[in-house]
Amino acid sequence: MIQQSVKIMVLDDEPFMLKLLARMLASLGYTQVSTCNNGHAALDMIDSPAGSPNLILLDINMPEMDGLEFVRRLVEWRYNGSIILVSGEDERMQQAAEELARAHKITVLGHLHKPATPGGLAELIEKWKAPEESKPRPKKKVYDKDELRAAIANGELVNYYQPKVATATGRVTGVETLVRWRHPADGMVFPDQFIGVAEAHGLIDGLTRSVLVSALEQARLWLDAGLELQVAVNLSMDNLTSLEFSDMVADLADRAGVPPQMMEFEVTESRLMEDLRVPLEILTRLRLKRFRLSIDDFGTGNSSLAQLRDLPFDELKIDQSFVRGACNNKKLQAIFDSSLSLAKQLGMEAVAEGVEDRDDWDFVRKSGCDIAQGYFIAKPMPAAGLPAWIRTWQKDFSASSRYI
Ligand code: C2E
Ligand code: MG
Ligand code: MG
Repeated sequence: MIQQSVKIMVLDDEPFMLKLLARMLASLGYTQVSTCNNGHAALDMIDSPAGSPNLILLDINMPEMDGLEFVRRLVEWRYNGSIILVSGEDERMQQAAEELARAHKITVLGHLHKPATPGGLAELIEKWKAPEESKPRPKKKVYDKDELRAAIANGELVNYYQPKVATATGRVTGVETLVRWRHPADGMVFPDQFIGVAEAHGLIDGLTRSVLVSALEQARLWLDAGLELQVAVNLSMDNLTSLEFSDMVADLADRAGVPPQMMEFEVTESRLMEDLRVPLEILTRLRLKRFRLSIDDFGTGNSSLAQLRDLPFDELKIDQSFVRGACNNKKLQAIFDSSLSLAKQLGMEAVAEGVEDRDDWDFVRKSGCDIAQGYFIAKPMPAAGLPAWIRTWQKDFSASSRYI
């Protein structure tokens, strides 16, 4: 029962509001409720051995420490519960406060306008979920270059593949190759923990080569099995420093018996800002050889428009941060729509990344974006899982009430 498991703290400088909210919560059946009239005392309570609350009803407008500062402190205190914002401020202020809290990675269940009603309050608390980890996350391990070098040489890196589907027809158009490190002691290690190490220590060419060789082998197997898939591989900007790169890629594809049109290279836009001459030549050459080019994480860098002008991209991937939750956020929608329209006007295919739930999916489909990728469709998976996944997806899609 949520009423007994959630520990709620009400933080408001007005004694009347504290009483009112506490009474409302009691009448809704919540048994573990504490109140507090200032931020400092609240932080002390969070620290106390009696245990931290896991839901805070937070007044935005308080003297001394206001709600925004309190949110910042919560992050420093490693609070991992949720909050509900309460205030008499106008809608835009409330949204901005909510945005800010989310940017700090604090779960916001929503906001409540003063005067709050029991119905409104109950509805927001219903959304509460127990925090996944009650202990602060352990710091991510940073891997040593020698360990990574050995891992590349020993074949400990494995490719996972995440499907991309056409929003109009549900057809699986391709996959994105995402590398993982099957670490003998630490289990599955994700790329954010070792790509940077590889780039910093001159190991990225070896890493990319190993990812590409496996992806090409796999592409050939899919081709032989009659699966027509576009196979995308992520490149690092540090791969694009030597002019031999495009010949090396062409040679590997040729040896694997994979036509260049089947392969696609994703380049992260935010790293394209450096000196462009050599990367530009390499990418243009790859395109001349009929490999496809994709601009990844679009909208997160600063010079996106110049890059679109200079580079012959076939595909534009709208960054997940503009897709997730866009259906009920006007600002995200505006950014999403202009990225999409840019892609269309430049004759590129648009991909929405990070389609995480049904709302995102509905939003992307209605927007007219060609292709979608994200957990709602499928998580990245080993190659062996793909054929079965495609069969299930296609069956569900044509049965269809779930998706249309
Ligand atoms: P990316 O290229 O933008 O890849 C998408 C990332 O978003 C992947 O994370 C994927 O698992 C994740 N993702 C997909 N759908 C969803 C969703 O619905 N919700 C959420 N929250 N996440 C989703 P992953 O595999 O951890 O990769 C992270 C980044 O590491 C990639 O971002 C890419 O930039 C880089 N990377 C991955 N593999 C390689 C590689 O072989 N070479 C290089 N240079 N970079 C790589
Ligand atoms: Mg990518
Ligand atoms: Mg991306």
